[in-house]
Amino acid sequence: MKISYRTCLACDSTWLEGQLYWSDGKIGCPHDLAGLLCNDLKDPDCINPCKGSNSGTTWEHKRYWRDEK
Ligand SMILES: [Zn+2]
Repeated sequence: MKISYRTCLACDSTWLEGQLYWSDGKIGCPHDLAGLLCNDLKDPDCINPCKGSNSGTTWEHKRYWRDEK
């Protein structure tokens, strides 16, 4: 049986069998990762399939910060 294991060089996160794990080993949501890191990094090496997504939990925070300026 082949186990798919990929690590993103851009944000240092790991996908194991389609499940995202943060760099500290905690299970994560790729949409949150996109909002937190990948969308800002804009790194072409980023393998997050949800890169560009703004449906993660950080999106509300981003909007809040933007409105405050
Ligand atoms: Zn990434």
